[in-house]
This record gives sequence, C-alpha cells and structure tokens, in this order.
Amino acid sequence: MAEKPKVLVVYGYHSDEEFAIDVGRSLERNPIDGVIVREFEGEPDYAGGRVKWWEPRLNRFIKRFCPQKCAVILHNEAIPIKYTSQQLDKLRKRFPDLAPIALWYYSKYEIPERINWAIVEHARAHFRYVSYLPISGYYFMPKGCDWLTIEYFPYTCSLKQVEALNHIRGLVRLLVTI
Ligand SMILES: [Zn+2]
Repeated sequence: MAEKPKVLVVYGYHSDEEFAIDVGRSLERNPIDGVIVREFEGEPDYAGGRVKWWEPRLNRFIKRFCPQKCAVILHNEAIPIKYTSQQLDKLRKRFPDLAPIALWYYSKYEIPERINWAIVEHARAHFRYVSYLPISGYYFMPKGCDWLTIEYFPYTCSLKQVEALNHIRGLVRLLVTI
C-alpha cells in the first residue's frame, strides 16, 4: 500500500449480514479517494456464543491498514428474514420513530464538535432521519483512529440498498475531509 488511507471501511464482520455486505461490495467497486474498503477476514469476536465487546480480532484487522482518521464498520440488523410482513408492520407501528440507519462514533478522546456537527449535518441533509450517538473516552480504542459503527435496518425500516449506499458514500467523503 503506497499511502495510509484516511478512512477504512470494513464489511462482512458478521458474515450473515448480507445487506451490509452488499453495500460494502458496491462501495469497494467504486473507490473514493483516501478510502479503502475491505471485507473482514477470519472469525468474528465471539466467546462461547457471546460477543466480546472490545472486539480484539476486529481491532487487529483494522490495525493492519492503519487508517489515519476512522474505521467504519458496516452491520445490519439481525432480524431473521422469517418475520412475516404482518409482524414487520406491527413492529413499525409500535416504533414509528425507528431510524433506518444508526451510527455510533467511538473515540478514545473527546470528540471534536466539528466532527459531531458534520456527521449530524450530513444526516439531516440526508433523505431520512439517522440516529447518531457519539461515545468518547472509550479507552479500548486504538490510538489515533476512531471507530464508526453503522447499523442498517433494511427489514424494520425498509431501507433500500441504494439509499444506504448514497448515505455511506457521502459520509466517508466527509470523514476524509474533516
Ligand atoms: Zn453485525
């Protein structure tokens, strides 16, 4: 690799999350300056069926690429496809404010306001509501590289792949510049 990327996007960390994998693959096929997109290799961080929340394998994978600013990890909701359309309708009625995309921005340090604002502004300018949660002081984080976890909700919120793709393309372009 000639130059360290500013942003790394990881997809396929959970191999059954097909929606997020498709978004990641589309992104990989259409490169953006300063961004590299890679499919996760190896086993996810499970321990006896439970997720290790500090995710050491994911951490190691990210370190291989040394992103200078941020690693973005793509997920989608684990709701099995076996839900009937009536069950999904019921869920949507019960939780009408569910956002189709949720973002968690983790940093070891205090997150600068300009980063929070840029992410919020981008979300606002976007087609629909996006839920955003900045989490600073997360001391397990590798030095100098923040994490942005993205969870897509294609089933409960009928998020379309093209919408998710437009959103992530805009977001990573933003992350490269801020
Ligand atoms: Zn996942």
